[in-house]
Amino acid sequence: MRRFDVILVGGGHANIAVLADWVRKGTPGGGHAALLTPQPFLTYSGMVPGWLAGRYQREDGRVDLAALCQRAGVEWIAGHCVGLDPERQIVVSDRGEQIAFAWASIDTGAVGRARETLGDDPRLCEVRPMDRFVAQFDAWRSANRQGAQRIAVIGGGAGGVELAFACANMASLDAPCEVVLVTGRGGLLPGFGGRLKALATRELAGRGIAVIADDARVLDGALYTGAQCLEPVDIIIAALGSAAPDWPQAGGLACDAAGFIAVDRYQRSLSHPHIFAAGDIATRTDRAVPHSGVHAVHTGPVLAANLRAVLTGKQLRSSYTPRPASLYLISCGDGTALASYGACAAQGRWAQALKQRIDSRWIAAYAKLAGA
Ligand SMILES: Cc1cc2nc3c(=O)[nH]c(=O)nc-3n(C[C@H](O)[C@H](O)[C@H](O)COP(=O)(O)OP(=O)(O)OC[C@H]3O[C@@H](n4cnc5c(N)ncnc54)[C@H](O)[C@@H]3O)c2cc1C
Repeated sequence: MRRFDVILVGGGHANIAVLADWVRKGTPGGGHAALLTPQPFLTYSGMVPGWLAGRYQREDGRVDLAALCQRAGVEWIAGHCVGLDPERQIVVSDRGEQIAFAWASIDTGAVGRARETLGDDPRLCEVRPMDRFVAQFDAWRSANRQGAQRIAVIGGGAGGVELAFACANMASLDAPCEVVLVTGRGGLLPGFGGRLKALATRELAGRGIAVIADDARVLDGALYTGAQCLEPVDIIIAALGSAAPDWPQAGGLACDAAGFIAVDRYQRSLSHPHIFAAGDIATRTDRAVPHSGVHAVHTGPVLAANLRAVLTGKQLRSSYTPRPASLYLISCGDGTALASYGACAAQGRWAQALKQRIDSRWIAAYAKLAGA
């Protein structure tokens, strides 16, 4: 069995900040480290709607994990974590390998739950995992360039709304798409302010995107909301929000009621202090921190500092305090974006320019560290 001083499980937004820290300052204590993650890159979700709308190439929104590992002296182990024994300090990969560790940092993101929620359908294209979504949608789009397509986007959160706009603005098909957005009974943009909801409602209507505030389900091969059949539908994009994978709870790690890993303000497991977790797979128990890319990114430096502290025998000092509100930018696919900060919301080309600047700066910083 291979043994590492520290294993990063999942190349998510927080663990890549750890890799970046190790590229800049060396692995703490000269430790022997590995990253267990399935792909040699991270697909940055913030740029996926832009790729879909045709603003970016598929490769533009990727962080090169393999190159970061090489620069940081970290071994990349290709695979999914499917099991964790926190007592014996072992993770198990889907290739059957058991890997022993002294310290672990888990950032595998959340998992999709579309099939459980909607029912199975071959047209289902779930946004999680993001790499699979991009590959599946790309294959569908290549095979269906001709003829008008009717797309159903299920999920009224920021991701679903942005994907609906992107689909309505896809320039790469011969004919424009007809898009229907099914938000669920929670309605459009739950958790966001009334002003953003009003702007989004107006913009969706302006694009001819039908919005249905009801739950969707697949019955006998057809998509329904209540008694209304939405067929014909060519593809069903499911952006339903996320669920926790089974393996943290099954392994005996302390988790919240939904199965997300319970962590303290240092991102440290409540039950097993040699395990850290961040991003969508973790839940802070001392305060509410929503699952989002913004918070996963901002937690990264905290995680890096705390791993450096424990690996060099120092006290934990770094904790993440989210700002009272976060800036969310939702591209409308036409060169404008909706901006939301707390109860304030606005729309304009400036918001889209700001989004592009933030996204490309983030990607460029990692490309530079990876030596591109
Ligand atoms: C379309 C869309 C747009 C979005 N846009 C935004 C936005 O603009 N702003 C925002 O704040 N949030 C946005 N989000 C939410 C955001 O994507 C997530 O909150 C964010 O990706 C969470 O980051 P993470 O580090 O937890 O995990 P992820 O980004 O999901 O990364 C997880 C990594 O772990 C790997 N992995 C997965 N499973 C395993 C496993 N079992 N073992 C090992 N490795 C594994 C994956 O391959 C991946 O590299 C968007 C979501 C969607 C669906």
